[in-house]
Amino acid sequence: MTGDLSPHKEPRAEPREEHWLRLHLNENPFPPLPEVATALAAELTAVNRYPEFTPDTLTGMIADWLGTGREHVAVGSGSVGIARQLIDLCTEPGDEVVYGWRSFDAYPLITRMAGAVPVEVPLTATGEQDLPGMLAALTERTRVVVLCNPHNPTGTLVGRAELEDFLAALPRRITLVLDEAYHEFARDPRTPDGLRLLTDHPNVVVLRTFSKAYGLAALRVGYCVAAPGQAGRLRAASLPFGISPLAQVAVAASLRAGKQLAERVDAVVAERERLRSGLVRLGFTGPASHGNFLWLDAGPRTEALAAALAAAGVLVRFYPGEGMRLTVGSREADDLVLSTAGALA
Ligand code: PMP
Repeated sequence: MTGDLSPHKEPRAEPREEHWLRLHLNENPFPPLPEVATALAAELTAVNRYPEFTPDTLTGMIADWLGTGREHVAVGSGSVGIARQLIDLCTEPGDEVVYGWRSFDAYPLITRMAGAVPVEVPLTATGEQDLPGMLAALTERTRVVVLCNPHNPTGTLVGRAELEDFLAALPRRITLVLDEAYHEFARDPRTPDGLRLLTDHPNVVVLRTFSKAYGLAALRVGYCVAAPGQAGRLRAASLPFGISPLAQVAVAASLRAGKQLAERVDAVVAERERLRSGLVRLGFTGPASHGNFLWLDAGPRTEALAAALAAAGVLVRFYPGEGMRLTVGSREADDLVLSTAGALA
């Protein structure tokens, strides 16, 4: 079970929220750019109006930005909204969804919501998704395999060659959800770009999001890029008026400010490396991360470290006896993590 030493299960709902440093949800530490905030403020005067019945403008905008046809794109309420619709569409009750575990907590939830059966393949000792183990777990009832790249919570990466071998061994009748929520933070030259796999692998659905690198988590916009048939089924399954115009204008403004946002992502990546070296210097270990967070194999020290961080006002995700996931925060937040961890080391 997830550990939670904070006094409140859901800090967002608490009046003292501003006292917590939120390093528990892999959020972007930067507030919206002024131009994004201005676009949102202007749109606020029109919230009495409905959005588009189907989010065609937003879909077209994302497709044009990616340089792909809009028939390949579907948008949803976060990438988790798309993943949920996809699992619903691909499975009948009793069908199986295979993924590495531990993973993003929504996967077991949305699998069960669809009436499907989660098949969880333990991560390797180094925190990686066990690709041969996942292939060995496939059965006649497997309809969907989920691969997160980079993986949450360990931050590990499946390289291009490994992914291509995995796809070659995966039967075409099985849909591969390639969850690239953290793609923009990956700097390794081996990082595959899921979008390039679609021509040869029509069973792949790539998920991306505006929640992480683009810092729009509250506005709930994710999208998938897939073969036209699959993307069309997802568009057809989405709720009328399902995407807020606030989300649409914020995405439009963010795409216009792409360069500045990319610089912020670079800053998070640099900060990730600074935080990781600091923690390694203090004797903590964990895999190199390709996301906006770090996994620490804190083992028996996990609870003490989480308690010390909570006492310092820092929220993290932790698993007693195993380790913890820390979002890369601002320099000040990360310095507080380092001094707190240093006092324990
Ligand atoms: N995939 C992964 C691997 C995640 O960690 C998260 C969020 N923590 C998501 C998807 C969901 O992101 P969103 O629904 O905000 O797009």
